Amino acid sequence: MIHRTDPARQAPWRAELAAAVNDPGELLRVLGLPEDLLASARRAHERFPVRVPPAYLARIVRGDPGDPLLRQVLPLDLEEAAHPGFSKDPVGDLAAQVAPGVLHKYEGRVLLTATGACAVHCRYCFRRHFPYAEANASRDRWRSALAHLAADASLREVILSGGDPLTLSDDRLADLVEALRDVPHIKRLRLHTRVPVVIPSRVDDALLGWLAETPLAVVMVLHTNHAQEIDEAVVRACARLRKAQVTLLNQAVLLAGVNDDADALAALSERLFEAGVLPYYLHMLDRVEGAAHFAVDEARAAGLMETLRDRLPGYLVPRLVREEAGAAAKVPVAAVGAGAGCR
Ligand SMILES: *Cc1c(COP(=O)(O)O)cnc(C)c1O
Ligand code: SF4
Repeated sequence: MIHRTDPARQAPWRAELAAAVNDPGELLRVLGLPEDLLASARRAHERFPVRVPPAYLARIVRGDPGDPLLRQVLPLDLEEAAHPGFSKDPVGDLAAQVAPGVLHKYEGRVLLTATGACAVHCRYCFRRHFPYAEANASRDRWRSALAHLAADASLREVILSGGDPLTLSDDRLADLVEALRDVPHIKRLRLHTRVPVVIPSRVDDALLGWLAETPLAVVMVLHTNHAQEIDEAVVRACARLRKAQVTLLNQAVLLAGVNDDADALAALSERLFEAGVLPYYLHMLDRVEGAAHFAVDEARAAGLMETLRDRLPGYLVPRLVREEAGAAAKVPVAAVGAGAGCR
């Protein structure tokens, strides 16, 4: 039986989503930041709007323009500069669509861009130019996605991504999970989401209800880039998910000025573990237009990983990978010879 939510009663997470700051001037005001950042923020906001929910805003240190959480969400006119090698679809997603909103790049698993919406807008996001309006698996398109899943018996896992699948209602998610019952070769459901981090109240009874009812094994890959993103509310949300038998992993993106030093990365791994989450991937930045100022070069990245391996148990060291259009999996980034990394 699927729990239906009462449409007359808005879940608290919906109110949080609606209360997200979506104006650059307000963002600066609330955080006590200098007004001279405004012209730059407004220009970049025109292309990819600001979006920061209150629970995330509360973890940003007031008055610090270098705050690692702020840097992920504050638009800057640096985003306007063109850089060779940075494009609108750096990972070949459009070419990998097998049906609207269905990306089948890797063996055994298929990724559904379940919605274009996100709870937060991350300035480095490779999907910032993705034409979701045409590409997302909106309600009437679940059907073609499901037809693709049912027809390919080599598939074991369905990954809901986006956008962010947890911006969808529990009724819609429960419908999808219900439909997956009829596809016997699908064993695992994976959710790629940043919502439990940016709006921890999203992990409520309605979500846990349908998660508890699916016979699929559920894996949730959170997206956290800095230890400061994990406050006590996030820890509690993760505890509830774990109690519901959800396997919790994290993916981070290596971002200049946010987490590109060994202390920050080690602190992130330690903090994730405290929340019951294991680090999975550390992604090299996808070379998307507008994000070049976040790039860290591979030699430095590999050097950071060596330092992490020296300092942490192996299970707290994420895999450093980059995504390559046309590759059969994420590509591991290896150390480039002895002494290549600046530590
Ligand atoms: C990243 C990604 C996956 C998942 O890859 P894993 O290595 O299994 O985490 C699957 N499909 C697509 C299209 C992806 O981009
Ligand atoms: S898809 Fe993920 S990284 Fe991109 S804006 Fe949404 S939450 Fe941020």
